[in-house]
Amino acid sequence: MSPQNSPAVTSAKQQPEWPDAGELNRVVKELKALPPLVFASECDLLTQRLADVSRGEAFFLTGGDCAETFAANTANSVRARLKTVLQMAVVLTYGATLPVVKVGRIAGQYFKPRSSNEETINGISLPSYRGDAINDVAFTPEARRPDPQRLIRAYKSSNATLNLIRSFSQDGSADLRMVHAWNRDFVANSDSGKKYDQLAKDIDRALAFMHACGADPVEFRSVEFFTAHEALLLDYEKAMSRTDYVTGRTYDTSAHFLWMGERTREPNGAHAEFMSSIQNPIGCKVGPKADPADVVKMVQKLDPDKTPGRLTLISRMGVGNVLEKLPPIIEAVEKSGHPVIWVCDPMHGNTRESASGLKTREFSDVLSEIKDFFTVHRQLGTHPGGMHIELTGDDVTECIGGISGVMEKDLPMRYETACDPRLNRVQALELAFQVSEMLAK
Ligand code: PEP
Ligand code: MN
Repeated sequence: MSPQNSPAVTSAKQQPEWPDAGELNRVVKELKALPPLVFASECDLLTQRLADVSRGEAFFLTGGDCAETFAANTANSVRARLKTVLQMAVVLTYGATLPVVKVGRIAGQYFKPRSSNEETINGISLPSYRGDAINDVAFTPEARRPDPQRLIRAYKSSNATLNLIRSFSQDGSADLRMVHAWNRDFVANSDSGKKYDQLAKDIDRALAFMHACGADPVEFRSVEFFTAHEALLLDYEKAMSRTDYVTGRTYDTSAHFLWMGERTREPNGAHAEFMSSIQNPIGCKVGPKADPADVVKMVQKLDPDKTPGRLTLISRMGVGNVLEKLPPIIEAVEKSGHPVIWVCDPMHGNTRESASGLKTREFSDVLSEIKDFFTVHRQLGTHPGGMHIELTGDDVTECIGGISGVMEKDLPMRYETACDPRLNRVQALELAFQVSEMLAK
């Protein structure tokens, strides 16, 4: 279709109403002059790793908070999340017998789409919380007022988090044997974790074997870890984009991988337009209402050159929908010849309100959605490329079930998320062991 008769781009959804446009413009100008957070070569490396996933030669794991917050951006919290994702990756590598590409929902996940513009508590209505980069979660008029200065804080927090990640992943702290020693602790220190004893021992033997075969010690000691967040607030993402004057290629330097959410995925929308302008590897959520023909349109827009590793479709159907809704979408996209990566987000279709009013998810639903995702891919002969999980490294009580034994009545004990309920450390590791067993079968 020629540009003349392309449908007009619709205006961006889910953008806040800034009280002071002049202030936003000043902040955007400031962001444009700041150094990039990630670099083009790193984004290209991730595309290359994801190209392996698209060929069925690797597995893609994304994990982290629903919404990062400035307050929880401590060294301990960042390390705990990173450790959890790395521990999961070791377990999955073994089950899948494939390398795992590791990406955090971290160092920039400060923007949240909301189903409603307002939140009402006890008859009082205030603007919804839209992520720490926009407003504060506290339920007061001042806290909920969108403040452009928060975009600068989001940049600085992302920078500090990235600094920790870069050090942690290179200084030997993430040595594979050490990461697996944490897994052994997990298995040994919880009664119910013991059911994974055999798998943990098998991994031990595999690591010892690799070592004895002279595996590169650098590969043991350092780890490739990439960052990702939802590219929601276009003023921020555009301000963080940089065009290389030699190649003319533009990268969004706020993260290595950016995805488009369920509420903003429209082939003619402003978000799709922005995503198609950047060279980073990108993702798009696909929910149960997605029409296969629309998904194909989106894929054509986001991956016009059929580049392996460029585009990941993140299926978030909800348990009970996968077997019916996912196959026609996969079939339509496969027919189009685009080498997309298929990833399962088993979180966002499975949120429910508990009796106490807190949002929660059942561990068993999360696991069942992944199981059905694998079944569909096995039936169609396509590669179940990975999973995208909301998790934390702390012992929170936000999701129900699993060996951690969190029950509905326990939810208020440590319910700390600023947005959606996350798997706690034990639930996240249990998920990795269970999925690893599924993959091994
Ligand atoms: C999210 O990933 O936190 C999210 C809001 O997901 P979705 O766009 O799939 O609802
Ligand atoms: Mn979420």
